[in-house]
Amino acid sequence: METLVLVNLFHELALKGQNRPLFLKKAKDHVQRALKGTGARLEAKWPMALLFRLPAPAWPEARARLKDTLGVENFARVLRTAADLEALKSALAQILPEERFQSFRITAQRSDKGFPFPSPEVEQVLGAFVKERTGAQVRLKGAEREFRARILPQAALLELERHPGPGGLPPGVSGKVVALLSGGIDSPVAAYRLMRRGAEVALVHFHPFPLLSGQSREKAKAIAERLVRFQHRITLHLVPFSEVQRQIILEAPKAYRVVLYRRYMLRIAEAIAKEEGALALATGDSLGQVASQTLANLQVVNQAANLPIFRPLIGFDKMEIKAEAERIGTYALSILPDEECCTLFAPKHPVTRAQLSVVLEVESRLSTDELIALALKDREVVRYTWPGQKPLPEAQEKAPIMEHGPLHG
Ligand code: ATP
Ligand code: MG
Repeated sequence: METLVLVNLFHELALKGQNRPLFLKKAKDHVQRALKGTGARLEAKWPMALLFRLPAPAWPEARARLKDTLGVENFARVLRTAADLEALKSALAQILPEERFQSFRITAQRSDKGFPFPSPEVEQVLGAFVKERTGAQVRLKGAEREFRARILPQAALLELERHPGPGGLPPGVSGKVVALLSGGIDSPVAAYRLMRRGAEVALVHFHPFPLLSGQSREKAKAIAERLVRFQHRITLHLVPFSEVQRQIILEAPKAYRVVLYRRYMLRIAEAIAKEEGALALATGDSLGQVASQTLANLQVVNQAANLPIFRPLIGFDKMEIKAEAERIGTYALSILPDEECCTLFAPKHPVTRAQLSVVLEVESRLSTDELIALALKDREVVRYTWPGQKPLPEAQEKAPIMEHGPLHG
């Protein structure tokens, strides 16, 4: 048994002007890579959609993957019939016995303008058929069940179940960003937000090992392994931070520690960004969430770097961030206990209005260049790729691609 899966691409991809072909190609390649190893074969393609054929047992795995595939607006398991109303009726007759609903609607889309009936007529005919078979009421708004049919030049597709994708732009179309990844809830969401806008994100995590345990390092790895689903390959830089912290603790007023940690994190991240060819940094700061995230402190922290610093969560509250972390599957990892480098040596009463002059005075006594060089030298670089080579054995041989003519997403 085989299943057909229709993948509709993110609507914004159609609005890219001259870049449209490039964006669409990247999105399609990304979708195809996401299905690698499931036995999926590309059956047909249109400007804003792809049709795959895959072995029926691979559907749950394909569904789980497509839900995390950037550039996918939605996707559906579909039945293919001949492009005529009788064939669509018999396809409906086939699926109706398995369904229970009180209200429904039919949504038809005619991509073949040569088809003799306009969409409203297709909807009326099929609607009357379903009503007669089930006794359910047609409801155009808020129907319990929606049947979507697409009429193509040589075939029609009837959607059996539709699922939302994450939307967004495919990885890499916007260039590279280095994201600072703590073990907390916020920074994985910030990294994801940038991925969703087409940035290729490299991750940097600062850990207190060997001064403290390696827990936060393991956590960062687990989060990277989750985030790689959205980007298919990701690099994680694990940077030892205890020497930087030791010098700051010795030289700085207690209240200034966290602001100084952040400035060094940004400097090291900026050096990594240079290596990676990244044009910006990103953090999970949200305005006013904790003392280090007051406007005054963010401003002083910013002065340490030259690259722009993106903070996609700046206007989000904790509940909103938490909900998104749950959606993308990082929340459960972020709440695991760890020994994080900043909290452990954090002062009880951190400064909320840091002064640049104080910070600069402290830093004049620190060996900044050596600290950065040491951190870079001792870092570990881990690269993740996803999906794996062959999670399902039954890879199928290649078949020619059918062309159905234009179809709109
Ligand atoms: P998060 O939930 O992301 O840890 P937070 O609300 O705990 O954020 P802070 O601990 O003040 O806030 O950190 C602010 C931002 O600084 C983080 O979102 C992250 O981008 C960066 N950051 C903090 N600690 C680290 C770390 N150990 N390694 C890398 N980046 C860090
Ligand atoms: Mg944190």
